[in-house]
Amino acid sequence: MNPEPEQDTNDKKGTVIARFGKSADIETSEGQLLNCAIRKAMISIVCGDVITWQGHDNNDCVICDRQERKTLLERPDASGKYKPIAANIDQIIIVSAPRPGIDLDMIDRYLVAAELIHIEPLILLNKTDLYEKDELQKMQDLLNTYQIIGYDIVYSSVKQDHGLETLLNHLRGKTSILVGQSGVGKSSLAKHLLPDIKIAIGKLSDTSGQGRHTTTTTRSYHIDAASSLIDSPGIREFNLWKISPSEVASGFREFAEHHGNCRFNDCAHRREPDCAINTAVTEGKIAKRRYDSFIRLCDSFQEQVQKR
Ligand code: GDP
Ligand code: ZN
Repeated sequence: MNPEPEQDTNDKKGTVIARFGKSADIETSEGQLLNCAIRKAMISIVCGDVITWQGHDNNDCVICDRQERKTLLERPDASGKYKPIAANIDQIIIVSAPRPGIDLDMIDRYLVAAELIHIEPLILLNKTDLYEKDELQKMQDLLNTYQIIGYDIVYSSVKQDHGLETLLNHLRGKTSILVGQSGVGKSSLAKHLLPDIKIAIGKLSDTSGQGRHTTTTTRSYHIDAASSLIDSPGIREFNLWKISPSEVASGFREFAEHHGNCRFNDCAHRREPDCAINTAVTEGKIAKRRYDSFIRLCDSFQEQVQKR
């Protein structure tokens, strides 16, 4: 009796490296790279999704299922509809630098976004070579307010090859993404971490901000077998979507132990009587600068509503 021709219907595991229209690059659990077709039901898969696939090679492989996501990074498109960008990210690295300038409110916006999607943030101050010693000390004192509330901070200089080993230790075993204003050094950092990848480094004088990067698709790169960096042109400078004041408050992690103690359940933490957040600010338990930043963030969403 002739054996049946071998037909492979066994599901195998893989991870999506990059998503294109009707196909996706995947890395199989054996470390093989394949370009797989996507079944209609799997149309929403994105970079970072853990999937099962069937087939043998580029000619016949197809993605048939996806595992539940641990985390999902989304971004509203032009019509305001949320579009998934990348899945299963463990860490958002918020990069700042003395040039183009440190904007603490912007760091706070990224922190709120990270808190709301339950991805651990890491604060990275790059280009420390541009500081005089006493300036750097001042900056460290300022950023210590973040350390006190439980955020890790790394100081680096790509130019002087300083702090990059420490950064690498924070990346180990995780899938991370670099975010932050244009010009802070994200591409330079990525290039250092992934020396074999062609990543275009921009100049601060290039104000167009367009077309400086060679990649246009969100893509995952291995740093080592257990660590990856996701590069996403759409998300590098992502901004916070519109959220309610209570969501903003839940993005300020040091508020958590206080805001249940406000007299009113729907306290906006402004001039309400017996506001536990205001009390905590007065008692020095919440940094005044963070509180002010919270108010500015709430106001900015209020303005958006009024402009409509
Ligand atoms: P991105 O827009 O965030 O990706 O920033 P780039 O990586 O393109 O860097 C913007 C500019 O800053 C480039 O001219 C880099 O050479 C420069 N740069 C990056 N890292 C450092 C650093 O640690 N120190 C200094 N002095 N310049 C840096
Ligand atoms: Zn309150």
